[in-house]
Amino acid sequence: MTNPQHHEIVVIGAGICGSTIANELLLRGKSVCIVDAASSAATACSSHAYAIAHPHIGKGSPRLLRLTRIAFLLAESRWGEAWNKHGIFQPTKKEKHFDQAEVANYLKSLGLDEDLAIALDAQEAEKICGIKQSGVWLSRGASLNIFEASNALLKEHEHLTCLWSSRVAKLEHAQGQWLLMNQTNEVILSADKVVVATAIDTKPLMSSIGIRLPLKPVRGQLSIFSIKKDDPWAQKLPRVGISGDGYCLPAQQLEDGSYRWMVGSSFDEGEDDLGSRDSSDTFNREQAQGLLAYSEGDPAALIKAGDFVGVRCVAGDRLPIIGALSQRPGIFLATALGSRGILWSALAAKLITAQVLDDDFALLVRLGFAADLVAALAPARFFAGALAAPAALASNSKPIFPSAPKAK
Ligand SMILES: Cc1cc2nc3c(=O)[nH]c(=O)nc-3n(C[C@H](O)[C@H](O)[C@H](O)COP(=O)(O)OP(=O)(O)OC[C@H]3O[C@@H](n4cnc5c(N)ncnc54)[C@H](O)[C@@H]3O)c2cc1C
Repeated sequence: MTNPQHHEIVVIGAGICGSTIANELLLRGKSVCIVDAASSAATACSSHAYAIAHPHIGKGSPRLLRLTRIAFLLAESRWGEAWNKHGIFQPTKKEKHFDQAEVANYLKSLGLDEDLAIALDAQEAEKICGIKQSGVWLSRGASLNIFEASNALLKEHEHLTCLWSSRVAKLEHAQGQWLLMNQTNEVILSADKVVVATAIDTKPLMSSIGIRLPLKPVRGQLSIFSIKKDDPWAQKLPRVGISGDGYCLPAQQLEDGSYRWMVGSSFDEGEDDLGSRDSSDTFNREQAQGLLAYSEGDPAALIKAGDFVGVRCVAGDRLPIIGALSQRPGIFLATALGSRGILWSALAAKLITAQVLDDDFALLVRLGFAADLVAALAPARFFAGALAAPAALASNSKPIFPSAPKAK
């Protein structure tokens, strides 16, 4: 290619993350070019059709709790029609004693109003959600078909250019602009600003410009089970989503009376193999028993009817990496969404757009972002000396692995 197109803003990666960011930039009146190695949007981890979303309410990192609350509200308002609000119940962990007043106070301390999260004892939970276990009812919890949502975000728009089947193998900075090059060193595109939303592939792309990121793959398999209408499981199947050790969607009854039920997911650290595994289905059957507190249920009655296998990308500290790469002006990262693709992509769209367009920080504060939250997500957190010198150059970019508590 002798005359590569130049764009002010290019987004690399058309999964839910890149698509949401591109869409937000369009909403802000910008022209955007999105480029992906695949021949269409959402072919990798974002081909997921059965993902759930709710604010995190477990004990743990206070920043994670604050961030998921903001992200949930952003996600809820973003996906409108596609947002499948069926509610999500989070049962009390088996080993924990349930004190309703204590849990209610705790939820209040997280800034979660009763319309977002409410503590229920087993009787109330049975009445409201059909599940006879104590826990927290997240009535606005929902599921989203990430594949459809990503594709809807990239529908034709006069200011949107989609470049498919184009793998960016490396980046190079020359004459004040970023060059996006393929494997044979041809320049595919050039841009003033580049948003990199390529999940685990962000690692090799960043190493092409001397930045090392602590990213790793975590394989996951979700199982689609079929249950006969007269099987004892049929009486136990939930009409809401459940999130605990694993998660499930509300069961759907089909025309022939049988049920279809999605239960996930395995969590295979460091693995990136996309093949389906019987062992992952076995694991999901055990999770199904746990989620419904139905250990006597026959796992064999959960008949495999399909699955989804994907590779999540996670960072060393389990928080997403979202923000300007201050060591390389003009590069913005949105990766490591882990198991919270819905929440973090909604949050990334606002945060990255604000940074790309150089918004006033007051705008972000209005969305609930405080400086410490922005810093917690920034790529700079992995580089020694970054706090003292935010614009530090490569010589300073030794990766460090923070020892912060791990998110789920
Ligand atoms: C089993 C399982 C269950 C999950 N459950 C949930 C859930 O319940 N709720 C939830 O919110 N999330 C869930 N997730 C996570 C969610 O699916 C992911 O976080 C999300 O899809 C990641 O989106 P992404 O856009 O960052 O990455 P991807 O969807 O992987 O997109 C990256 C894109 O970049 C492109 N690309 C890569 N390298 C290049 C390159 N060099 N040049 C050009 N293009 C490139 C790829 O082709 C791809 O289209 C789950 C994941 C798994 C595996």
